[in-house]
Amino acid sequence: MRRLPIELSQGQLRVSESGLFLDAHRKAACAFVSHAHGDHIARHERTIATAPTVALMRHRLGSKVKGDALSVGYRKPFGLGDLTLELFPAGHVLGSAQLRVTRHGVALGYSGDLCLQPTLTAEPAEVVECDVLVLESTFGLPRYVFPDKGEVLAEIRRFVDGALSEGATPVLLGYALGKAQEVLKFLGEAGYRCRAHPVVHAVNRVYEAQGVPLPNVELLGPEGPLAGEVVVAPPHLARTSPILRIKDRRTAVLTGWAVDGRRGFRGADAAFPLSDHADFPSLVRYAKATGAARVLTVHGYARELASALRQEGIRAEPLVEREQLELL
Ligand SMILES: [Zn+2]
Repeated sequence: MRRLPIELSQGQLRVSESGLFLDAHRKAACAFVSHAHGDHIARHERTIATAPTVALMRHRLGSKVKGDALSVGYRKPFGLGDLTLELFPAGHVLGSAQLRVTRHGVALGYSGDLCLQPTLTAEPAEVVECDVLVLESTFGLPRYVFPDKGEVLAEIRRFVDGALSEGATPVLLGYALGKAQEVLKFLGEAGYRCRAHPVVHAVNRVYEAQGVPLPNVELLGPEGPLAGEVVVAPPHLARTSPILRIKDRRTAVLTGWAVDGRRGFRGADAAFPLSDHADFPSLVRYAKATGAARVLTVHGYARELASALRQEGIRAEPLVEREQLELL
């Protein structure tokens, strides 16, 4: 079979016949980092990312991160050996980027984590026209259809109002990077007084330094929230003392997985499908919009999404390990 412009080897994505890794989770000599979520970052010798991603990586990995970081703006093509690279917004979290790599006239698009609904705290996603697309498949099953984000935010607001009217503290559980800032931006700008868990607060400071103000948000200290305040915390810390100390609380989990139902969300009172990923119909639409003649799916429901794309007449397959390919 003709060689693909990208390969997966020992779990790492690499542009074929080049030293450029994509979202490598082990140290690499040179890596493009699409965004700063934990499963996409490592201490590379050379990092290519947007300025907010570099700042968020430094925050997450500590100031002792060595190596070069090349901060690149969106839509500013540049050369790397025989490759031309260009970054485009991915709409996932602040600074998140898609990458287009062009070599010998063939354009490879890499979506990274992608969100196609408008967001309050990230640059809106753009369509990356390309010949071969590497597409994330987190929600790559037909049952993952998200409501309009405006409706989800309105539901969250009703939940908050309901808790406050009962004299309880609403506690919203959202991932510390991205989800938390989006809901804080929404509520803070609507005039709600919010308290951010220390882990969220530290990320908020990076967002603010990168030009995303979060008004009406203060640190959740040991004294806990005041009456009438809303608390935002990461889900994995829902059962730690700063939250458990809040006596009368109503908790809600904010996650795309909420479309699967409320069970399993750590005993929360509610779950809302606020997602920073594209849903299934958006992934299919996006794949078509790029004009790619071939789509390679990665992460999550890669096999299922590829199969659905083939039914739409798109040549698609999950990206598999190079060793497996050689057996074919
Ligand atoms: Zn992510």
